[in-house]
Amino acid sequence: MDKKPSIFNLPLSGLEAWVATRREPLYRAKQVLQWLYQKRITRFREMSDLSERLRDELDREFLLEPLACVRKTGSGDTTQKFLFALRDQSFIESVLIPASPALYGSPSDRKTLCVSTQVGCAYGCKFCASGLEGWTRNLEPGEMVEQILRVEALSGEKINNIVFMGMGEPLANYQNLLQAIEIIRAPWGIGIGARHITISTSGLAPRIRELADQPLQIRLAVSLHGATDAVREKIMPINRKFNLAALMDACAYYGEKKHQRITFEYILIENVNDGLDQVMELAGLARRLEAKINLIPYNTVEGLSWKRPSQTRQQTFYRALRKSGVDATIRREKGHDIDAACGQLRLQTMQDKNFAGSNNLR
Ligand code: SAH
Ligand code: SF4
Repeated sequence: MDKKPSIFNLPLSGLEAWVATRREPLYRAKQVLQWLYQKRITRFREMSDLSERLRDELDREFLLEPLACVRKTGSGDTTQKFLFALRDQSFIESVLIPASPALYGSPSDRKTLCVSTQVGCAYGCKFCASGLEGWTRNLEPGEMVEQILRVEALSGEKINNIVFMGMGEPLANYQNLLQAIEIIRAPWGIGIGARHITISTSGLAPRIRELADQPLQIRLAVSLHGATDAVREKIMPINRKFNLAALMDACAYYGEKKHQRITFEYILIENVNDGLDQVMELAGLARRLEAKINLIPYNTVEGLSWKRPSQTRQQTFYRALRKSGVDATIRREKGHDIDAACGQLRLQTMQDKNFAGSNNLR
């Protein structure tokens, strides 16, 4: 593997520091960023307003190679999944969700990309495809940024909403995540504002507090999936480390600091967390924090025995929740089933013996 760092890891300050070591004026850094993020070139030699010497030096020191897309599912106005092979041959996936009603942010012309933050995941939630094979490594900031650039190039869509809900636990890759967000938000970068960026976490309470102390209006979604410690513990090992009380305190802190309503994600799994006893508890937690609840019917994962409840059970849960006066939505749209289940395409692909990585879509 080429050990050169990706140019997409660097924010403006980093690039300026590099340019300075080359005895070039600082504005060269902005020129480079313009080629990368506005003109979207794929080779240093295309940076025609830089000297040949500087282009050669960039080429010697940095990688500028688009992520290799090895598989894609869905098309047009449905949800599209992209499987990428990274430079060390590990796989991650990104999911493009066209106009995403009742999702994060307002409906209408939202084009949401679900971005991965790690290869695999160490948190081992019992229902999740991403955690099945454990954690391999953190993604670099550039690998998060590139998912956006590459999906825009492959789909022809302009993405205007980012959810860190792909593979991995974003808050366990905290520094790289913040660096990626800097590049995603910046006018010299991709230019998607913090209000259009959502981080989903399985509940790393201390990190939620740290994020609250950042001067960023990022949206927070918390994967709750159980409204009592007993239920949550069964499916989410992290609950033993940070129980519901600790998690709710951190969420309250976030909400107060940001003047923001956070979202609780709650996947419905048959006979695990879909009983009416959970409704009352869930409603209580949501009321305390004035949180919104996003109910997600479970997507079955091959090799796991958890099931999605029947439509009737889903609706009973949903109605009871609404009746208790909290703001709740349930994902019903067929094409959107896929969106909360990042990690599944990778898993299928790894299990697919006929897949040799040869159908490269690059
Ligand atoms: N690690 C973070 C973000 C990635 S998971 C987190 O856990 O929040 C994004 C969301 O998808 C989480 O709410 C997760 O619980 C949910 N999810 C995982 N597997 C799923 C499945 N099979 N069906 C539906 N939602 C799933
Ligand atoms: Fe990791 Fe999130 Fe999956 Fe849990 S739900 S294993 S934290 S990716």
